Amino acid sequence: MITMDKVLSISNLNIKLHTNCGTIHAVRGINLDIAKGEIHGIVGESGCGKTVSAKAILRLHNDLFTNYSGEIKYDSKSDILKMTNKELMNLRGKYISLIFQDPVQSLNPLLKIGGQITETIRAHSKLNSREAYIKAVSLMEDLGIHPAEERFNQFPFELSGGMLQRVMIAAAISSNPRLLVADEPTTALDVTMQAKILDLFKEIRGKTGMSILFITHNFGVVAEICDRVSVMYAGKIVESGNVKDIFRRPAHPYTKALIESIPKAKQTGKRMIAIPGSPPELSCEIKGCAFAPRCEYAEEKCFSESPREYKISDSHINLCHLKK
Ligand code: SF4
Repeated sequence: MITMDKVLSISNLNIKLHTNCGTIHAVRGINLDIAKGEIHGIVGESGCGKTVSAKAILRLHNDLFTNYSGEIKYDSKSDILKMTNKELMNLRGKYISLIFQDPVQSLNPLLKIGGQITETIRAHSKLNSREAYIKAVSLMEDLGIHPAEERFNQFPFELSGGMLQRVMIAAAISSNPRLLVADEPTTALDVTMQAKILDLFKEIRGKTGMSILFITHNFGVVAEICDRVSVMYAGKIVESGNVKDIFRRPAHPYTKALIESIPKAKQTGKRMIAIPGSPPELSCEIKGCAFAPRCEYAEEKCFSESPREYKISDSHINLCHLKK
């Protein structure tokens, strides 16, 4: 299903955010390719730069308080970081869509859900209101929002969290974007609903061939849904590869620690494994490897020299002084 054609290509992306508390170097030189039709996961702890990177793909940060360098190329051609506002408006929703973690926060509580879906449909097509209604109801049926005609006229407070996330997905895919960026879309849901929504993403990819960038802090979710994964730590991608390779042979100590910390069914009665310490402050300069203070394999040079990316195979990249 995955081809070598790229829908998005990020090269040496750096993002500095200017805040009241000083400048935060939130993303520190990441490279990432998303192939057509693949589900690519970005996994890491809170504050590692996952969401900042996702928002940069649609240039959603306030340009006045953000410094970008590097490239984000859509379809191997246009650099999103150089697009004009008019070009960005055309890109957002039509070619690249974004789903946030909390649908309650993302939907307008005063508007009926059907109207919020048709608004998106009409913004990116020439359909009249009747045609947009028919498309919205059909999408809602496909995504399990039953009975669609009745739900169409309900307000967000009348639906459960799982149904609201389906509404968000319906609005996001209504214009058939080539890339869907989903930022922790299942985190606010209970476990049963999480599984259903993950199945829905797989179904959408199967039916439409859409690429999905799936952002999560949960490696279990990555195993469930992704083809490839990039592991982020302190604003850098420290390991990247096929999900099977990363689970079978994780190379970076942080990836290993994340996988070991996934709760297992047979673990009853044992303590859960946690990574000691906490990630570094991204407002301070980081010398050497950012993971060194928490890494059980750290050597002297890890504290002074930044590790370089090296290839374990054509599809597996690691950023660590220990080459295995
Ligand atoms: Fe650990 Fe050193 Fe590798 Fe960093 S470079 S992950 S500190 S071994």
